[in-house]
Amino acid sequence: MTTTVKSRNPTTPARMVKNWQSPVAEGPKTDEERQLLLTAAATACHPCRVNVLLVEDDDAIAEPLMKGLERQGFSVHRESTGLGGVDAFRSSTPVDIVLLDLGLPDIDGYEVCRRVRSDSSIPIIILTARGDEIDRVLGLELGADDYMVKPFGFRELIARINAVTRRSQATGVQTDDIIRLTGGVVIDNRTRRVTINGEELSLTRKEFDLLALLASDPGATQTRETILEQVWDAHWYGPTKTLDVHIASLRKKLGDPTIIETVRGVGFRLRTSIESDTN
Ligand code: CA
Repeated sequence: MTTTVKSRNPTTPARMVKNWQSPVAEGPKTDEERQLLLTAAATACHPCRVNVLLVEDDDAIAEPLMKGLERQGFSVHRESTGLGGVDAFRSSTPVDIVLLDLGLPDIDGYEVCRRVRSDSSIPIIILTARGDEIDRVLGLELGADDYMVKPFGFRELIARINAVTRRSQATGVQTDDIIRLTGGVVIDNRTRRVTINGEELSLTRKEFDLLALLASDPGATQTRETILEQVWDAHWYGPTKTLDVHIASLRKKLGDPTIIETVRGVGFRLRTSIESDTN
C-alpha cells in the first residue's frame, strides 16, 4: 500500500509556517481559494519543510505517526514494504529523511538501509522493536544515523528528526583539512575520507564526525557532553547508548580497540598523537 500525504490537511494554520508569505499579490476571493493558497504555501513555499519517507508496514504505528508528523509541519510519504521504500527513494518523491522499520514483509530494513546508502548520505533513523545491541550496531554500521526502539515517545522522535536533519545541513566539526595520526591513520576533513595505510575505511557520517572531533585534539579527553553536543546535537537528551555504540563500531573499523580510550565517567580520547598537519 502506498499513501502519499503532503500536508493537505485543511486545518493547517498559516501561522505554523515560519516566514510565510502569500504567493500572490491579490488576495484570495473565496474561503476555499484562501485555503488552497495557504495549503499550497505550506507545502511548496516553505524552504524548511522536511519531507519524511516513512517505511513501516504496521498501520497501527504508521497512521498515528503520519498524523503526528503532519501536524508538526512535516510532509510524509509512507511505504509499507522495503522495495516500495527503495523505489520511492529512487523516484522523484522528495525525501529529506528516512524513518525505517526493520521488520518489513519483503526485504528487511537493513537491506533497505544498504540500498539507500549506496546512492545517498540522506539521514536515516531506524525504528525497531529489536532492542539488542547487535542489531543496533549493525543498523548503524550500515549507515543509519540513529535508531529508536519501539515503543518510543513522539516528542523524542521529533527531537531526533530535527537533530539529524540539522546536522546533515551543517558542515559538521571544524578541524584542520588533513590530520595524520600515528598508525597510518589519515583523516581528510575536506573529502570526509579516512584511510589506514592508504586503505579507505567505510565510516558512517556520525562515525566520521566522532573521529574527526577526537582527532582535532589527539590525546585530549573529550567529555561525553562535548561529543554529544558537537557530533549529535546541543539539545540531545534521553537515555541513549548511541555514543557508546558508535565508539564500539569505530574501534572495530579502526582495527584497534585501544585506539579510542575510555576515560571512565568523563569521556573518550584518542590514544595516538598527531604526526603532522598539512593543508
Ligand atoms: Ca514491521
